Amino acid sequence: MRLSDRVAKVPKSGIREIFDRAESMKDVINLGIGEPDFNAPRFVELSAERAIRSGLGKYTPNAGILELREEISKKLKRENGISADPRSEILVTSGATQAIFVAMGCLLNPGEEILVPTPAFPAYRYCASLAGGKCLGVPSRESEGFSPDIEAMEKACTSKTRVLVINSPANPTGSVLGRKTIEKACELALSKDLILITDEIYEKFLYEGAEHFSAASLEEFRDRIITINGFAKTYGMTGWRLGYAAGPSEIINAMIRFNMYNAVCATSFVQYAGVTALKHSLAFFKSILSRYQKKRKIICEFLDRHGWGFQKPHGAFYVFPKLPENYRTDSLSFSLNLLESKRVATIPGSSFGETGEGHIRISYSLEERELRRALTGVEQFTRDRS
Ligand code: PMP
Repeated sequence: MRLSDRVAKVPKSGIREIFDRAESMKDVINLGIGEPDFNAPRFVELSAERAIRSGLGKYTPNAGILELREEISKKLKRENGISADPRSEILVTSGATQAIFVAMGCLLNPGEEILVPTPAFPAYRYCASLAGGKCLGVPSRESEGFSPDIEAMEKACTSKTRVLVINSPANPTGSVLGRKTIEKACELALSKDLILITDEIYEKFLYEGAEHFSAASLEEFRDRIITINGFAKTYGMTGWRLGYAAGPSEIINAMIRFNMYNAVCATSFVQYAGVTALKHSLAFFKSILSRYQKKRKIICEFLDRHGWGFQKPHGAFYVFPKLPENYRTDSLSFSLNLLESKRVATIPGSSFGETGEGHIRISYSLEERELRRALTGVEQFTRDRS
């Protein structure tokens, strides 16, 4: 079978390898999962149901229904300090991943590059390569909480670099970027004439006083920033597939045209539910965050107690510890062996780029009792092997 070179460059990920193996096993506790442990609020579910019953299951504009774009615009102003015109500067997508893909499709010509601080969410790399582009991964500074090394990124830039990606709070490290680092990233984008893509999907998962800062709230850089966000994490709506991109009208317009021959539009009744979520869910997240704070404390205390090296995560629901010495060059083996012997699934750090090797990603997004049970398994596994 002859497949395109573009798709041939997208390998089976370590994540899939673990999940495929886990699927054939019984009673696996999943510390690999990248989704919230709660569902959408009941009134959001009812709103989707109402939309279907009212005959709203039809095509929508390619940019998404105006009502949702208006709510997104209000949300961006209210919560992020970002001005985005709902009629020309917002595109509703089928999840944040599709927004990333469409952005890469609109910004890259064959051979052009994106700059990504690593370890990173793999979609940036592979969306770029599916668009014919190439990813330049630049190691973040682990000793500084996995903060992107902006100077090294500047050095890595070539005449073909078109896009710079940042992600805060970050998958897989849980790091939260401060305003200064974000300003530096914006200045780099300006000086090298790049578009900055900022993925803010974990913006609500913040701990110990960490604050989220949106690059596009800096007016002077606004015309070169695409903000990407979605409903998956904040509202427990991963399978609903709803996200958005906000940015300068010229780029958003191109993305709408691209979308016309891609998803056409995000699922109509899910868009109506998105309007309800943005209008009425302010209180919803508060109680969730306190549960996540508790789980984060459990995992951090466990890692401290057992002498694992790790950077304290201040956001998202992941921690990215260093593996024991004998697994530093093979995180996939560690994850597979742990799964086989203790039925605990984790994600090998190598799935997030070369700089992730020697780590695993642990998601603590699961019930507290399960989390404790999984950690007992990890403890036994590492004790048996030492
Ligand atoms: N960005 C990051 C950083 C993520 O971790 C994820 C999900 N794992 C996404 C985007 C994808 O979001 P969605 O489900 O809306 O496509």
